[in-house]
Amino acid sequence: MLKKNAKLETQNSKLAVRVGYGFDSHEFRPGIPLKIGGIKIPHDLGLGGHSDGDVLLHAITDALLGAVAAPDIGALFPPSDPKWKDADSVIFLREALKRVGEAGYAIANMDASLILAAPKIDPHTGVIRLRLAELLGITGNRVGLKAKTPEGLNSENAALAHVVVLLEGIQKKSSPRRSTLRKRAP
Ligand code: MG
Repeated sequence: MLKKNAKLETQNSKLAVRVGYGFDSHEFRPGIPLKIGGIKIPHDLGLGGHSDGDVLLHAITDALLGAVAAPDIGALFPPSDPKWKDADSVIFLREALKRVGEAGYAIANMDASLILAAPKIDPHTGVIRLRLAELLGITGNRVGLKAKTPEGLNSENAALAHVVVLLEGIQKKSSPRRSTLRKRAP
């Protein structure tokens, strides 16, 4: 078993593109602010969780980590660690972005679906997309965001997020030809 895992770690040959998928869900609770995609949204309930409960940033973080086969958000920032209590989820996202960069990739685009009964996300979609674009270092037209209501899911007291990201390999500048490669004059 261990040998198999070791092989997994070494078979990390560079791909031109990599895809990542992330999912998260959090329960609504009274008395806490609602944060989605790094934006505070006026509502009488917020999303519970050990950190700030930002379900969308958590799903994006896991999509990025998954794309480069890194450990997931729960492994990197365990809820059992008091350090992450009420933490700004931007910290988790920045760690994932760092790992994507270190692996030699940049984000091509991302797309997300949010599923929640209330509040209506539509009036906030523009500002959330702009904030995500800023956090991810890409233009707004590379950030997709749809909000849907949970028809038939019986999850009115929860917010769910599904995210896919596409990464593209960063092209290294080719080094100039070395003069030693040229044939020497006799
Ligand atoms: Mg979460």
